[in-house]
Amino acid sequence: MKCVIIGGDAAGISAASQIRRMKPDWQVTVYEKGYYISYAACGMPYYVADAVHELDDLIELTPEEAVSSRGIDLCLGHEVTGIDPGNRSVTVQSGSKVFSDTWDRLMIATGASPACMGIPVHEMKSVHTINSLPQAEALKSYIKSARPARMAVIGGGYIGLEMAEAVRSLGIETILVHRREDLHRAFEKEISDIIKNKLRDEGVILHFGHSLETITEDESGAIVVTDGGDLRVDGAVLAVGVEPNSKLAIDAGIGTGRAGAIRVNEFMETDLSGIYAAGDCATATLAGFGMEVHAPLALKANKQGRIGGTNMAGVREPFAGVLNTAITKIFDLGVARTGLSFAEAESLGLNPVKYTVESRDRARYYPGMQKIHSLVIVSKKDRRVLGAQLAGALSAVKRIDVYSTAIYNRMTIDRLMDLDLAYAPPFSPVYDPVLLASRIGSRKV
Ligand SMILES: Cc1cc2nc3c(=O)[nH]c(=O)nc-3n(C[C@H](O)[C@H](O)[C@H](O)COP(=O)(O)OP(=O)(O)OC[C@H]3O[C@@H](n4cnc5c(N)ncnc54)[C@H](O)[C@@H]3O)c2cc1C
Repeated sequence: MKCVIIGGDAAGISAASQIRRMKPDWQVTVYEKGYYISYAACGMPYYVADAVHELDDLIELTPEEAVSSRGIDLCLGHEVTGIDPGNRSVTVQSGSKVFSDTWDRLMIATGASPACMGIPVHEMKSVHTINSLPQAEALKSYIKSARPARMAVIGGGYIGLEMAEAVRSLGIETILVHRREDLHRAFEKEISDIIKNKLRDEGVILHFGHSLETITEDESGAIVVTDGGDLRVDGAVLAVGVEPNSKLAIDAGIGTGRAGAIRVNEFMETDLSGIYAAGDCATATLAGFGMEVHAPLALKANKQGRIGGTNMAGVREPFAGVLNTAITKIFDLGVARTGLSFAEAESLGLNPVKYTVESRDRARYYPGMQKIHSLVIVSKKDRRVLGAQLAGALSAVKRIDVYSTAIYNRMTIDRLMDLDLAYAPPFSPVYDPVLLASRIGSRKV
C-alpha cells in the first residue's frame, strides 16, 4: 500500500508518523513545498519579539529525523499542483521537474494562508505576513535592518494581538488596526474591553472601528489606508485572518464547507473515496453542538492528522471535534476562551445568558495574588454550560480547561459547582474561581 500526504507540518507529519507506526511495511510519501517540516508556527511571534532567539528552536522534528527514525519518504521543495482522483495520482513540481505519482490513499494537509485582501504583500519590503518560518525570519530581519520607529499591525484576532505585543516589546511605536470597535468575535465585549485597556496601558495605539482598504509602499515606508484615514508607518504586519488552502481539493472536485475548508467527516474522509484531509485546510465539528466550523488551531491539526493517519491505516477511529478552545498572552495578561460565544448560542436557539465574575486567583493574603475575570455563558433552557472566557494572570487562565472539560461532558452549571478542585494558597482561594463563578451562576440562571 502506498499513502501520499500533501503538506509536511502539524497535520501531515502526524498522519505520516501514525501510518508508519501502524503499518511499518507501507510506503508513506510526504510532499512538502517548503524546506521545513513539523515546526511550531505558534512560537513565531516570540521569535520576532526575540524572546526565542533561534529559528531552529521552533523546529520539532528535522527532515533527517523524519526519514531516519520514522521511515517517512520525505520530499522537500516538492509542490503538488494537481490531484487526479480517477487515476489515483498527483502531479508534483520540483523546480523545473514535473512528474506524477500514484497513491492508494491520499491525505491533503495543506494548511491555511494569511488573507491578504488583494494586497501584493510578497512584492513589498516593509509589509509582512507571518505564516511560515521564512516569513518570520523575513520580518525579524526587516526589523533588525530597517529599524522601524513606527509600525502598524492589522487584525484584532489572536495573531494580530500577539504580533502587536511582539512589535511593541521591541520598543517600536505600534498601532493596532481593527475594523470593529471590539476585538475579534471570539472574544465577548467584556473580555475585549479588558484586552483593549491592557493594550493601551502598554502604549499600543488603537485604531479601531476602521476597515483596512489597502496598503501601499514608497521609499520611506508603508501607508496603511483605512476608511478612518491613512496611517504612515515604517512597516506593517497584516494579520486579518487565514484562508484554508483548499484550491487543490476544489479543482479535484472535492466538496468544501465552512469558510471554504475541505469538508471532512469524523474519520477525516472527504467526499471522494480514498482521499482524506486534516488540519487548517479541513473543517471540524463543534463537539456536542454539531455545528461545522473552521478552527485553524494547532491541537486540532495534530489530532486530525493522527486520527486521519489511523483511518488511512485501516482502523476506524473518530475525531471527537473541537470547542474552539484557545489561550493567548497579551503582555502580562492571559486571555482564554472555550465553547460557544453568546451570539453562536443564540443562533442555535439555546436561550443563553451570560454573566461575569471578578475574583482572586490565589488566597487573598498570598504574594502575587491577582484578579481574574470570568465570563460564563449558560443555557436558560437546561442550565448547560455553553461557553466561558477568562482574563487574568498568565498562570491563572489555563483554568479554561476545566470549562472545556465541563462543556465537552455537557455539564450543567450546578454540576460544575460539585467539582472537587485543588486548593492551596499559592494556587487558588479555597473556592477556586471556577467554583465561585459556578456558584454565582447557579443562583443567577
Ligand atoms: C503566527 C501564528 C501563531 C499561532 N499560534 C497558535 C497558538 O498559539 N495556538 C494554536 O493552537 N495555534 C496557533 N497557530 C495555528 C497553528 O500554527 C496551525 O493551526 C497549525 O500550524 C496548522 O497545521 P497544518 O499542518 O494544518 O498546516 P500548516 O502548518 O499551514 O502546514 C501546511 C504545510 O503544507 C505545505 N503545503 C501547502 N500546499 C502544498 C502543496 N500544494 N504541496 C506541498 N506542500 C504544500 C505548506 O508549505 C505547509 O508546510 C498559529 C499560527 C500562526 C501563523
